[in-house]
Amino acid sequence: MSKIHVMSENLANKIAAGEVIERIASVVKELVENSIDASSKVISVDLVDCGLKSITVTDDGVGMDSEDALLSFQRHATSKIKKEDDLFFIQTLGFRGEALASIASVSKVDLKTSQGGVGTHIVIEGGKLITNEEADAKKGTRISVNDLFFNTPARLKYLKSNTTELANVTSFIERLSLSHPEISFTLTNNEKRIVFTSGSNDLLKTIHELFGYTVSSNMIEVNASSDDYDIRGYICKPTVLKSNRNYMLTFVNDRMVKNIDINASINDGYRDFKPDIKYPVVVLKIDTDPTLVDVNIHPSKADIKISKMEELKFMIESMINKSLRKTLLINDMKVNTNVSAPSIIESEKNTTSDEDTLVKSEEQMTFDYTKMTIEEESAHGFSEVQTKVAEQSEDKQINEDIKRLELHPVGIIMQTFIVAENEEGLYLIDQHAAHERINYEKVQKQMKNAQNYKMKMLVPLTLEFSTSDYLKVQEHIDTLESIGITIENFGVNTIIVKEHPTWLREGMESILIKQIFDMLIEDSVKFDKMKFLKRVAQTTACKMSIRAHEVITLDQAKELLKQLFMCDNPYNCAHGRPTIIHYSEYELDRMFRRIMN
Ligand code: ZN
Ligand code: ZN
Repeated sequence: MSKIHVMSENLANKIAAGEVIERIASVVKELVENSIDASSKVISVDLVDCGLKSITVTDDGVGMDSEDALLSFQRHATSKIKKEDDLFFIQTLGFRGEALASIASVSKVDLKTSQGGVGTHIVIEGGKLITNEEADAKKGTRISVNDLFFNTPARLKYLKSNTTELANVTSFIERLSLSHPEISFTLTNNEKRIVFTSGSNDLLKTIHELFGYTVSSNMIEVNASSDDYDIRGYICKPTVLKSNRNYMLTFVNDRMVKNIDINASINDGYRDFKPDIKYPVVVLKIDTDPTLVDVNIHPSKADIKISKMEELKFMIESMINKSLRKTLLINDMKVNTNVSAPSIIESEKNTTSDEDTLVKSEEQMTFDYTKMTIEEESAHGFSEVQTKVAEQSEDKQINEDIKRLELHPVGIIMQTFIVAENEEGLYLIDQHAAHERINYEKVQKQMKNAQNYKMKMLVPLTLEFSTSDYLKVQEHIDTLESIGITIENFGVNTIIVKEHPTWLREGMESILIKQIFDMLIEDSVKFDKMKFLKRVAQTTACKMSIRAHEVITLDQAKELLKQLFMCDNPYNCAHGRPTIIHYSEYELDRMFRRIMN
């Protein structure tokens, strides 16, 4: 029986006009999705001149009989949608019907297909049937689209540069490989291989084949399920973050989606584990009842609507956050073996400069305000910290999920890095980053309990603002109150600060309070209380902490490590920078060429 049904005119009209062929990638998409629908296990896409000269897709699928083969070039032919109701339950990758007809009308198409017996060979040029004959009998389909837009020069001009078209095709095939790890995909351009996946049905192996060893060796398997959703996939350790969101890949019922809410919940899951300007590598597969999903917002868009979005967001965020907490998130130093990661990883070079500016701005802030002598300051900082340890360990519920290390400090180098060891090798700990993490968690806890952690200002602080800034401050009096800053209005555009939180560093209260007001005014355009509080905690923690190049004793270093490992997340500073890096004995041996492999 013929597998392809001709849709009724009515039904066809209900489908939004998503079938316009604009890009090389949209042609590739149509052809490859047909191959997937034909249950293919091996699909190869071969381009000549980035697809402008020719696009050939070869598969080992079920093939078509001669009747279907001809029918596939007619308008509204589709094997997907039989009746209108089906439109509401579309689980397949998209819905087509006009696609092949459209493609054939603007190119020269050569199709060979067989179900195992006698095959069919069809040639169509600019929509006209040139050849329709019997052909050799290899099971599967091979379709070539040559000279795209040869009869519509205006549209030919509209194509982007060759490299842009190729990049789009590459990224499409990469995403498709991740949604179908059970299918082997090959993409070539002018006989040069660009993408290859083995079809192992192993998602991690597919990630490895696409993104290389550095990424795949730093992935954590995750999963979560509820009555409505099953989620599984991989998330990266914060050691391999990217500068853009292109590596956050989510699939709902095997369909690649780009959804702001889903991306935001992934980012929220990483909140304490990365700087805000960095993005993780994440591949998540979400399975759900198709009735909860509305894919039909617009057929050409990758966005979807999900009815129980809040539940899904919560699941994703907590799944990611829990998994990160359970994993030992230390930057492992590896000897550079020149394993180059293929394809889309190109923004890597920019990462260092981002990191640098982040570090610089942080250190600069610390630097500006401190004029005390180094010994005095660190001694002060530490005696205070030490007395707190006892009470902390009693009232503090230690999070059992966190992987903790026992490290033995052996020295401090460059007055900045604590050198420590254990059976696993050598560790370097950034003394400022570590202390900042400890203070950050302390400040956050005390912030939540402002009533117990506030005191009168010895000398009330008077602040004068411009009218607009004054109004902005008035709007957020409650927020200030909630963290222990009590103010009173005092004449025109002027306020007096009466009480301040105890967690402001002694001697720096006025400076820090002024800075908190600056942040409040800066943030007030799109005020987000959570984000504001986070910034306040980051800044005050940074200011309270011992700096790089500040002298501390080995005993103080021991104490610092002890407290660090009582933290909820010992592995990142308040801004998401790493606190610890690790050299395993194995890596050290390799670097000294004690072992060769
Ligand atoms: Zn800092
Ligand atoms: Zn920091």
